[in-house]
Amino acid sequence: MLPFKVVYHDKYDLNLGPHVFPSQKFRLIAEALIAEKIASKDDFAQPVAASDEDILRVHTQEWVRKLKTGTLTASEVMLLEIPYSRELVDAVWLAAGGSILAAQCALRDGFGANLGGGFHHAYPDHGEGFCAIHDVAVAIRRLQADGAVRKAIVVDTDVHHGNGTAAIFRGDPSVFTISIHQENNYPAHKPPSSIDLNMMDRADDHEYLGALLPAVQKALDEFRPELLFYVGGADPFCEDQLGGLSLTKNGLKERDRRVFEEARRRGIPVATALAGGYARRVEDTVRIHVNTILAARDVAAEVPVRTRVQIYPLREANRALNALKNDAIPGAAVLKVEG
Ligand SMILES: [Zn+2]
Repeated sequence: MLPFKVVYHDKYDLNLGPHVFPSQKFRLIAEALIAEKIASKDDFAQPVAASDEDILRVHTQEWVRKLKTGTLTASEVMLLEIPYSRELVDAVWLAAGGSILAAQCALRDGFGANLGGGFHHAYPDHGEGFCAIHDVAVAIRRLQADGAVRKAIVVDTDVHHGNGTAAIFRGDPSVFTISIHQENNYPAHKPPSSIDLNMMDRADDHEYLGALLPAVQKALDEFRPELLFYVGGADPFCEDQLGGLSLTKNGLKERDRRVFEEARRRGIPVATALAGGYARRVEDTVRIHVNTILAARDVAAEVPVRTRVQIYPLREANRALNALKNDAIPGAAVLKVEG
């Protein structure tokens, strides 16, 4: 039914009970996609947990050890703002595996959506704000280690600044980071992203899109990434309990659609992860995340995949043609062979 995969696992649920973080949303989104006949069971891909090797490309040995052995200090648990449990550790390793899989699917299909993850407040050596492991960074580092991409961009639309993302990729010329967020909100310390769009309190759809789209267009044209990782926060919504912006559900869907369109027109695959969403009614949060999938579906239908044109010198032509035959370069085509 969908022209791309949605990545999901029942164990994404952190089982937090009556916490402001509605971790049952992962299951509710998956169920809504099926119930509303947006996706069939075949459209779902089940991730495996990321390996420790994958996690350690981003996080320190010490932080991984503390998480796995349950030896976080009281202040580390306080910074994390969710209770520590073995289920939490399993869920975040799984979410990182999900973001890896979504990115791999995106390279093959043009889009790939993780119905989890987006834990953008996690730093290499500690967790913050409900985020223990930075799944998006883990996925980008894995794809780079595999040689699948060299350059990636992170477009983070969560209402809270992507501090972990900025800290991890700061000074790294291979990853460009954009964060659009409410300036007067968590986190207090905001290390610089490549582009930070600091929105004033109660900014509306118009102001938000007016800031986001030119920045995305410019970054895609100048940086020319091979993958766009979209952190699709539902919390810029006007009724969010932890947000202070005034976006509508339609504005948020338009946000997703326009970013996906810009990438698609340039032949850049898009992987998505969820990030935050704390609407008073959890069904609003679920709807906003479901709309991200619908936006991707619409853009996939409306904007044809632009063939990536590669020009090879003659001596490399056979190698390139073989690679194409073996599907090692998804979406690529040899247009012209020069002597
Ligand atoms: Zn957030």
